[in-house]
Amino acid sequence: MNIPFVDLKAEYEALRAELDTAVSQAIASGWYILGEEVSAFEAEFASYIGIEHAVGVASGTDAILLGLRALGVGPGDEVITVAHTAVATIAAIELAGATPVFVDIEPDTYTLDPALLAAAITPRSKAIIPVHLYGHPADLDPILALARQHKLYVLEDCAQAHGTRYHGKIVGSFGDAAAFSFYPTKNLGALGDGGAVVTRHDEVAERLLALRQYGWKQRYISETTGYNSRLDELQAALLRVKLAYLDGMNAARRRLANQYAQALAALPLTLPAERPFARHVYHLYVIQTEQRDALRTHLQAQGIGTAIHYPQPVHHQPAYDHLGYGANSLPITENCAARILSLPMYPTMPEAHVAQVANAIKAFYNG
Ligand SMILES: *Cc1c(COP(=O)(O)O)cnc(C)c1O
Repeated sequence: MNIPFVDLKAEYEALRAELDTAVSQAIASGWYILGEEVSAFEAEFASYIGIEHAVGVASGTDAILLGLRALGVGPGDEVITVAHTAVATIAAIELAGATPVFVDIEPDTYTLDPALLAAAITPRSKAIIPVHLYGHPADLDPILALARQHKLYVLEDCAQAHGTRYHGKIVGSFGDAAAFSFYPTKNLGALGDGGAVVTRHDEVAERLLALRQYGWKQRYISETTGYNSRLDELQAALLRVKLAYLDGMNAARRRLANQYAQALAALPLTLPAERPFARHVYHLYVIQTEQRDALRTHLQAQGIGTAIHYPQPVHHQPAYDHLGYGANSLPITENCAARILSLPMYPTMPEAHVAQVANAIKAFYNG
């Protein structure tokens, strides 16, 4: 058996003719940076999210960094977020010059626990970054209410949540800004790096346009210190093709998740939750078990790929020692890190593979 954790080649093959045509046209255009493909993708992506502006940037990390800077977050400011996330969320906060402040997560959704948020707010708090992890939305209503009350910005980290919905409305449209990654494995993935920031505020969008290109408002005149962080034409051309299939691909992920849920229901495992307010897009299918490492080894021996997102929470990674979070500072996060396992999940995954993975897991528990 050889069941990969993710199969990017299969995703490419499914759309090969259209993707190849899009790339050939972009190459033949003779214009490679900030041209018609990027503008068209930005308009189409903004329309998909149902928001005024989308600004293409070089990665999801940059989308968070530029988003924070466009909101005016910088040195001396605290940004409240979670440690149970991709390290990129935290790296971007520090790149902006701000200090990350962690709150724990809800054990069933793996997202920021709104009940713990008020205690983390200080006079230096400037923004909150809820992360819609694995494709499930954070519980935004209480987060937005506290943000309004304390005059804090909300920047949604939507890197794992293209098409996720909260109370029926698509995420990315709730905060002051939202960051998306188009890293190849994401639900909307380029064939290289890419990202976007979306916002409903005109002045934030204007700042983003300057920040992604050296702080220019006018060519060659930097109004502010900026970056070189542009989505390129080739990636934009590919993303335009793939955006049209995103809802269908998310529906396929949901069907596979449903198949997993039925097949694994009787086992001593914690399966992904989907709260009544949520429409999950299963960027990852994450289960929890006390026997995580043994189960992983068992699956590995049968040729089944798995992964752990993430094995060491950010607050305990060596680079973030300086933030000063000791053992048991975020108990739910720490408990999850030792128990979570991501099973194979990608939109073109054959249903037969889901059945085989489920059978291998059953064999592990039932002998
Ligand atoms: C992937 C990811 C990012 C960073 O995106 P890159 O495009 O890899 O820079 C940020 N936050 C989360 C939650 C992610 O999963």
